[in-house]
Amino acid sequence: MGQRIGLFGGTFDPPHLGHLAAALAARDALELDRILLVVANEPWQKLDKRALTAAHHRLAMTELLVKDVDGIEASDMEIVRGGLTYTIDTVIQFQDAGHEVVLVLGADAAGGLNSWERAEELCRLVQVAVVDRPGHRLPELDTWSIHKISAESLDVSSSQLRSLMSEGTSTAGNIPSAVKSYIDIHQLKWPRH
Ligand code: ATP
Ligand code: MG
Repeated sequence: MGQRIGLFGGTFDPPHLGHLAAALAARDALELDRILLVVANEPWQKLDKRALTAAHHRLAMTELLVKDVDGIEASDMEIVRGGLTYTIDTVIQFQDAGHEVVLVLGADAAGGLNSWERAEELCRLVQVAVVDRPGHRLPELDTWSIHKISAESLDVSSSQLRSLMSEGTSTAGNIPSAVKSYIDIHQLKWPRH
């Protein structure tokens, strides 16, 4: 039977407690059956910027972030599909399977919506929910149907954490211990910038 599913996409390089807090807020505010942290395979807008951690590691870390959390799961759909990642393809895949989709984004990501692949079509197909993110205001997005979610968001980003880890500095509790152990065991490294 069709479900109401939240798609919260990202690079998750690495996943952190800010992602989890945003997903929890969306799960509770939107009456979703499930919210999926969809791990991008090759996010086309980030490709030329830096080398990403291998997708299977980003997926494994995201699974650890949401392990045992009710109603929140990691999705490998974009990795299994392979190639460049376009959210619209993911949305259509879920809708074709009979699900209702709500696209969940942090306020910074929402600002870029009009630059996404096939943005007009995406705009017609989905409801969008935007979660507060410290330091980012929700931009004007006239044509999109936007549900704003107020949340006790955390001021943390993967870029900050990569930079701290590359300097050997503590990530100050923003990465759960299971994810931190995974990073240590697999010796994942992020180069200095
Ligand atoms: P990077 O710094 O590499 O861009 P990030 O922390 O922004 O990493 P992404 O994987 O780019 O993480 O983001 C995935 C989704 O999570 C986006 O919609 C983003 O807006 C949202 N998000 C990330 N961190 C937070 C946070 N602290 N609070 C609310 N939303 C967040
Ligand atoms: Mg980001």
